[in-house]
Amino acid sequence: MYRELEKAIEYSFKDPTLLEEALTHPSYGKTDYQRLEFLGDSVIGFIVSEWLFKEFPLSDEGKLSKLKHYLVSKKNLACWSSVLNLHNYIKVGRSLSKENISEHLHILADTFEALTAAIYLDGGIENVRKLINKLLETHFEVEKIDLLVDPKNELIKFVSKNNLSCPEYNVVSISGPNHKKVYEVECRVGEVAVTKESSSKKEAENEAAREILTILKACQTTKNL
Ligand code: MN
Repeated sequence: MYRELEKAIEYSFKDPTLLEEALTHPSYGKTDYQRLEFLGDSVIGFIVSEWLFKEFPLSDEGKLSKLKHYLVSKKNLACWSSVLNLHNYIKVGRSLSKENISEHLHILADTFEALTAAIYLDGGIENVRKLINKLLETHFEVEKIDLLVDPKNELIKFVSKNNLSCPEYNVVSISGPNHKKVYEVECRVGEVAVTKESSSKKEAENEAAREILTILKACQTTKNL
């Protein structure tokens, strides 16, 4: 049942019940992944920090923290989870439909955390290190992340350096039912405005800041020609 998955993670479990536990959502009503998730969170933090420490010998701790913050984020762990197709193996109760699992980023991320703890308990830290280092080497582009980490902060730095007006953020609208709200947020720098939607206000602000930064940079390049 888990053969394909074990191939993807390049690890075979001595105790498959650990793997099963890591892939059992609380709604299923059996021993679920929450305790493993708790442990996995720290295991990932350790391995990611160790990798960053060795990979970026010239970076200060501020930059390392930023990168770590991104790498252990729900968004990134959900991405790694999808790379391994974990959503195909998660056992959920009837309250959750299996087809929509891949839309629940937190479930994807939590399952990845639980999986790392299960590998750690079953096969030791070395096997977790192998898996995470491989994901880091194949699914992490540091050049992209630099900007992605904190676009709002990058935007502030950019406008002050170029004497532009201070960025303003406004919630244009909130729609959708309570459990699935959509925030529409506008980011404005002087005459330039960008509107973005997301289920989180912060994410919408980040997206808008990221795009406006790209626009402002392009304008600046044209001006300098
Ligand atoms: Mn979690």
